[in-house]
Amino acid sequence: MVPPLPASNDNEPWTPIALWCRAKGLPTPEIQAGSRAVKIGGITHYLGFEPTDQGGAICIHPLDRIKTFEPLTLAPTWPHPRILVLDPGHGGVQAGSRCLTGNRFEKEFTLDWALRLRPLLEAQGWTVHLTRTNDCELSLADRVRVAETQQAGLFISLHFNSSFPNTQAHGLETYCLTPCGLTSTTTRAYADDTTATFPNNQHDAANVVLARRIHRHLLGATGTADRGIRRARFMDVLRGQNRPAVLVEGGFLSNAEESQRINTPAYRQRLAEGVARALE
Ligand SMILES: [Zn+2]
Repeated sequence: MVPPLPASNDNEPWTPIALWCRAKGLPTPEIQAGSRAVKIGGITHYLGFEPTDQGGAICIHPLDRIKTFEPLTLAPTWPHPRILVLDPGHGGVQAGSRCLTGNRFEKEFTLDWALRLRPLLEAQGWTVHLTRTNDCELSLADRVRVAETQQAGLFISLHFNSSFPNTQAHGLETYCLTPCGLTSTTTRAYADDTTATFPNNQHDAANVVLARRIHRHLLGATGTADRGIRRARFMDVLRGQNRPAVLVEGGFLSNAEESQRINTPAYRQRLAEGVARALE
């Protein structure tokens, strides 16, 4: 299958990525033909298309270069004023995933993470709004609306993962919206229309810069396994955003070892510290 390309990239050749990185002063990526997972500076990113081996040089789709590699040359820029919205996932009857150890649910842990994170960010000069501060139910549209109302410059949704009944999956995942023209890493049941654009696509570069910073600092703060920076279109809470927005999955509640860790306040404090450090 020939991957689709927006008109402006129709004639652009695939990029020999090791050469390109060297020219830009970036570390040599760990990349293989046929695998969309690539490690850049030790952090896993998922590409939209499988790299190919062209005469011994691993080459990537030009849109993967533009949407994943080129933003790595950018320094993060924080909004002025520093206003952000933290979104503790789920709430009320939407309990989220069940914790394998203890009769507890995702919604409790996401709220606790956000409440621990808020004072750390406030100490760094951020004005922080939470989409919820108690066990109430909120629609995904309500969560986006909070960011609009508060004129937030960033949006961070906090979740925990589950792959039940598979109890093996473990590690951290950070999501941002799939750029137009690329295929998503994760689709669930959503039709992954690669020609679709959403309001949040105007922040493609800032999204991946933010995702990478948060992901890297969370890995450092927790020592949890790296499941990569991923892209999805099905997440309503991301795609309607008029600001950089990411969704973090802070470990698997369906994995015995990780569910035990998530169940401890000490681990959730480390998750909060990891995100705070990313936003210094
Ligand atoms: Zn969730």
